[in-house]
Amino acid sequence: MAPALCAVCKTARALIKRPKNHAKLCKTCFITIFEDEVHHTIISSKLFFPGEKVAIGASGGKDSTVLASVLKTLNERHGYGLDLVLLSIDEGIKGYRDDSLETVKKNAIDYDMPLKVVGYDELYGWTMDQVVETIGKKGNCTYCGVFRRQALDRGAKMLGIKHVVTGHNADDVAETVLMNLLRGDLPRLSRSTSIITGDSRSEVKRSKPLKYSYEKEIVLYAHHKKLLYFTTECIYSPEAFRGSARGLIKQLERVRPSSILDIVRSGEDMARLVPGASSSGCGCKGKEDAPLTAEEEEVGGGCGSSAGRPPGGEMAAMDRQLRENEEAEGLEIDVAKTMASKQEPKRELPIRNSNSKPTTQQVLGNCRLCGYMSSQDICQACTLLEGLNKNRAQIQI
Ligand SMILES: [Zn+2]
Ligand SMILES: [Zn+2]
Repeated sequence: MAPALCAVCKTARALIKRPKNHAKLCKTCFITIFEDEVHHTIISSKLFFPGEKVAIGASGGKDSTVLASVLKTLNERHGYGLDLVLLSIDEGIKGYRDDSLETVKKNAIDYDMPLKVVGYDELYGWTMDQVVETIGKKGNCTYCGVFRRQALDRGAKMLGIKHVVTGHNADDVAETVLMNLLRGDLPRLSRSTSIITGDSRSEVKRSKPLKYSYEKEIVLYAHHKKLLYFTTECIYSPEAFRGSARGLIKQLERVRPSSILDIVRSGEDMARLVPGASSSGCGCKGKEDAPLTAEEEEVGGGCGSSAGRPPGGEMAAMDRQLRENEEAEGLEIDVAKTMASKQEPKRELPIRNSNSKPTTQQVLGNCRLCGYMSSQDICQACTLLEGLNKNRAQIQI
């Protein structure tokens, strides 16, 4: 049997079965399509302005590494005029963050970007290792997430940067949509679907240019571009509920590859039903939105990029497979050809105003203790720190 030809260029041999729609592509066409789609997201959401200074939240993991690489490529190719900087958070997790920071340092050299590292110890007086020593492994991802969100903002401020991009991918967004759906929390679901988060009061805005990129395609891209990234997962245990949502999404993807994007789009549709809430629709109109709590925001990027992965790590397995199989020919995901047509009918959904959960419009002020933007008197990080410090004081007595 003659080898299949690439569905796009019709000349090169197809080596990649695209996870998103199972199109058979050659390596060059896959890389081009992946980049073009991110470019489309950026342009249609008006994500950047010329001359903007942008910090890339860099964990050394695949998502943020691919984000940095793609942004560098697109910035040069399309003349965005961006001033790109890598911003890394050192949570203080021995054997995990030490090694991944080494990866980021190498990336900084490869991509010729400045790198800024901000540590939890200098910001909060606690490393994550010390936090876990004090509170145990249960629930520590909450601490890590809350701390990281502020740390990225503070790091950006130190650099005089007002825009942080993170490596959240379509799988991460779908996972968050599903979790909030299962919790019955539409307001939060609505906020989590936005490509741009942050508030007019917030000095630093966040966005996720890889919002529509499949995790599997990110791995493939990293592999074929021979990008250097760090694969070991965070040593501390992930949140069980998020892990279940993630497992469910991977199962759905197996029988219906479009599931991930379908969940993201459904989340966007549902977001439009939430009174008072705004959300970007198809990535063609990003809007300012209410700030997210660390819990909903901070998957992906840091330890969250691997947190919640079901045991056995499908992505880790894929990674291993790719490394063993240079041509990626083995990437045959066992899926029936059930691709839905790209034509998505616009759903007109009834709007529930009377019986739906009231949307709480957060009023933003500043934390009494640290001055960080917060809807509460004391911000989440300071609340957690108070508990930790109380614990420490007791131990010392
Ligand atoms: Zn091709
Ligand atoms: Zn505070």
